[in-house]
Amino acid sequence: MREWENNIRKVTPYTPGEQPKQPDVIKLNTNENPYPPSPKVLDELRRMSTDTMRKYPDPTARELVSAIAEEYRLRTEQVFVGVGSDDVLAMCFLTFFNSQKPILFPDITYSFYDVWAELFRIPYERPALNEKFEIVKEDYYKENGGVVFPNPNAPTGVQMPLADIEDILRHNQDVIVIVDEAYIDFGATSALGLLEKYENLLIVQTFSKSRSMAGMRIGYAFGSEELIRHLNDVKYSFNSYTMNETAIRLGTAAVCDSEYLEETRRRIMATRERAKQELAKLGFSFTDSQANFLFVTHESCPARELFEVLKEAGIYVRYFDKPRIDNYLRITIGTDEEMDALYRFLRDYLPV
Ligand SMILES: *Cc1c(COP(=O)(O)O)cnc(C)c1O
Repeated sequence: MREWENNIRKVTPYTPGEQPKQPDVIKLNTNENPYPPSPKVLDELRRMSTDTMRKYPDPTARELVSAIAEEYRLRTEQVFVGVGSDDVLAMCFLTFFNSQKPILFPDITYSFYDVWAELFRIPYERPALNEKFEIVKEDYYKENGGVVFPNPNAPTGVQMPLADIEDILRHNQDVIVIVDEAYIDFGATSALGLLEKYENLLIVQTFSKSRSMAGMRIGYAFGSEELIRHLNDVKYSFNSYTMNETAIRLGTAAVCDSEYLEETRRRIMATRERAKQELAKLGFSFTDSQANFLFVTHESCPARELFEVLKEAGIYVRYFDKPRIDNYLRITIGTDEEMDALYRFLRDYLPV
C-alpha cells in the first residue's frame, strides 16, 4: 500500500435521486415542486445583465437576508443563508457539533445526516422511530453532543407536534438542536415561535421544495444572533462567496411573493389529500404525510417491483433499499395530471 493512501479522507457520499435526461418522464422521485417559481422570479431574471456575472457577489447576501428576515418578522442578525439547505446544514454540523458525545438523529431520516457526521468525524447515535414511524421524544433526553431531525420527517412525511419539539428543546438546553424544516410549508407547524424562548434552537428551511427553486440552490437558517454569528464566522473561514448573485436576486424576488407560495402550496396539499384517497383504494397504506410526498407500501406488491415497473413506464419514484423501509416507495406529489397517470398505471398493473 502506498503511504499517502493512509492520509486520504475516505467517505461514502450521499446518493441523490436520479435526474433522467428523457424529457417526457413523470418525475416523482426527488420532491421537486411541479409548478414553476413565482412569475416575479422570471421578471427579475429578464432584468438581469451579465454584470451580475462579471462582479463578485455580495458575500453577505444582504438583499436576500433582509427579504427573508422581513418575511418571517425576524432581525437580519437572526438569518443565515447558503447554497441550498444542504450547505446550510453542513455548516451547522461543522460549527455546532464538536462534542465528544454523540449527536442524535432518527434511524430513518434524511440520509445526508450520517454522511456529514462521517465526513466531519462527529460521533452519532440513531434512536429508532416507533412502529408508526414517529420520533420517540424520550430517546432524545439522554446526554448528547447535539440533536438534528427534520419536521416533517423524511422520507416518512410524519410531523412531530410542536409540544413534543419543545419537550426535546427543554431537555437539551446544553446542546444545539436543529429542526430541518425542508417541508414545513406543506402543512406541519413550524418551530419558529420557539426561537425567542430557546437560544440553542436552529431552524433550517429551503427554496427547493415549496418555492420551486431546487436548481437555484438557496437555503437558510433562523437562530439567535449568537448562533448566526458563529455560523457566519465558520462560513467566511471556508468560502466567502458561496451564493452567486443570480441566486441572491432571484431568491429575493421569490420571497417577496408570499401570495404565490400560498397558492401553489395549497394546490399541492389538495393533490396530496386526493392521492391519499386514490392510493388507499388501490391497496396502499401510508403515513399521514404533511410533506409534498407520500411514503407508501402495498398490501401485496413488493415496493422494489413497483419501483422497477413504474420506471419502465416512465414514472420515476424513489426507493430506499434500507432496513425497515425496503418495502416502501416515496412518491412526490406532482400535478393532478401527473398523479392521474400514476393512478391509471397502478390500476392496470395491480391485481384487483
Ligand atoms: C430536500 C431536503 C434538504 C435539502 O434541500 P436543498 O435543496 O439542499 O435545500 C434538506 N433536508 C431535507 C430533509 C430535505 O428533504
